[in-house]
Amino acid sequence: MPAAKAVKAAKPARVPASPAAAESWPDAAGRFGRYGGRYVPETLVPALDQLLEAYLKLRTDKAFQKELGDLLRDYVGRPTPLTKAVTLSSRFQRRIWLKREDLCHTGAHKINNALGQALLAKRLGKKRIIAETGAGQHGVATATACALLGLKCRVYMGTEDMRRQLPNVFRMKLLGTEVVGVQSGTKTLKDAVNEALRDWVSNVEDTHYIIGSALGPHPYPMMVRDFQRVIGEEAKAQVLKNEGHLPHAIVACVGGGSNAIGIFHPFLDDKEVKLIGVEAGGRGERLGEHAARFAGGTPGVFQGMYTWVLQNDDGQVTGTHSVSAGLDYAGIGPEHCLLRDSKRVEYLRCSDQHALRGVRMLAETEGIIPALESAHAIGVLHEVVKRTPKDGIIIINVSGRGDKDVAEIARIEGFAL
Ligand SMILES: *Cc1c(COP(=O)(O)O)cnc(C)c1O
Repeated sequence: MPAAKAVKAAKPARVPASPAAAESWPDAAGRFGRYGGRYVPETLVPALDQLLEAYLKLRTDKAFQKELGDLLRDYVGRPTPLTKAVTLSSRFQRRIWLKREDLCHTGAHKINNALGQALLAKRLGKKRIIAETGAGQHGVATATACALLGLKCRVYMGTEDMRRQLPNVFRMKLLGTEVVGVQSGTKTLKDAVNEALRDWVSNVEDTHYIIGSALGPHPYPMMVRDFQRVIGEEAKAQVLKNEGHLPHAIVACVGGGSNAIGIFHPFLDDKEVKLIGVEAGGRGERLGEHAARFAGGTPGVFQGMYTWVLQNDDGQVTGTHSVSAGLDYAGIGPEHCLLRDSKRVEYLRCSDQHALRGVRMLAETEGIIPALESAHAIGVLHEVVKRTPKDGIIIINVSGRGDKDVAEIARIEGFAL
């Protein structure tokens, strides 16, 4: 067991001003080692520079931090609890804790970032917001933040995703957001990102683009990470209070990588804490059957950044598959690439099958139906257990709740709703 560390309990619900690890990456060019950077049309560079400059000021601006902190507490419901998984703990002979992002308003961690960026946009004097969405979770979070703050909002969504996620399309409309279907390419998330970037290029004067994960051109990966760091700061204070020890391992699913980097980041300097990211293993090993970028991809330029991408030998981005729409993406946030290369984080894969089993296991043992995305972090628990001592402490990030997935799971299991 690592000695209990006297870590000053971080105040929940605030963006960190300047903790050591957050200061080291990215560099001034937005690079995490060789990854990240900015690969965008010339017309976007001034907007990204303006955003970076504003963000660096607001990061340490007391009034901004207070406004955001108050909203996270009173509107989102932070701090989210750290719940002991009593039955799972005795089954696996580990002390298992769940970080409950499923209890955030709108049902997942995405609201932390959407609110942060919407507030930032207001400070920049931008009255129009655009966003991309895949499953619709980031679209709903952004539509919610815009309704709250009185901003005009348009969300781009592939028409194939709209068909699969109709309830979320209607939710966004109820919240007063315009949803625009994207017909190009595979009619899914990457096509929606392309369309949002195109909109931004032509409307950059009055428009802010809220990217939904820790990816895209600099400063997005850094900024989104900082807005999601609240998860890890709270978890650290909570586990120290409850156990008097740092955890032995933290597990989180990795789509673009925002919930994972959010919970990992405050622990990066605590070398004794194993950090485990879980990618979507889908239904097979072949390209196109999964969304495991580190297992099946190679480095390349994709949607504004240099990162690991699922692509063929000609550099064409390939299709992906995952039972969870939120993990079904060909690229990954650049900071994760650095953390993989340096071996600070280990990345595992969880198949569709194991994720579905993960949903059942958490539902039956703890009475919590997790999102299919989060279930990937639960589905590899048997692997995590091998990497931790008996009675060791494990934190699983439950990034979202499963309400949105119930119909899909019922369909897969042949249960007609
Ligand atoms: C969107 C989403 C994810 C994946 O996104 P990250 O940026 O990797 O966190 C994971 N879980 C839930 C519940 C989501 O909605």
